[in-house]
Amino acid sequence: MDRIKNIAVVAHDNCKEELLDFVACNREAILAHNLIATGTTGRLVESLLAETGPSEGGEPKRVRRLMSGPLGGDQQLGAMISEGKVDVLFFFWDPMEPQPHDVDVKALLRLAVLYNIPTASNRSSAEFLISSAFFDHEFSIKPNRFFEYADRKLD
Ligand code: PGA
Repeated sequence: MDRIKNIAVVAHDNCKEELLDFVACNREAILAHNLIATGTTGRLVESLLAETGPSEGGEPKRVRRLMSGPLGGDQQLGAMISEGKVDVLFFFWDPMEPQPHDVDVKALLRLAVLYNIPTASNRSSAEFLISSAFFDHEFSIKPNRFFEYADRKLD
């Protein structure tokens, strides 16, 4: 993956405040990359970044907003992962409340693991991830053993 990464951000409703605080605290690091988000998370992140000042070049930072998670946004993100269009995932999912789109949440997390995407699901992991030396440098994702599946023998 390139130095400038495609970063996906998603937060369930009870976790949105935490994600926004994370974004605010790491504004400069995040602004250096391209942002993708599920609908509502993207709207909130975009307004937060606009409120806290212009990005480089004076333009407000645009977030690529997908559908809201329960309306298909998690699936869109999963498809983007399988197409190699997502480099890092910050997904603050709610461990205390069942979601109407639980199957989509599970599918997204599954694809993030399958494609070996660096993923943070809580604040501490997010802080570790964003502090990684790789965050602002090129990094090559090793293909994992699952990719042998496409060439499996069928008699
Ligand atoms: P939202 O979706 O950003 O549209 O709220 C998040 C989710 O539930 O996956």
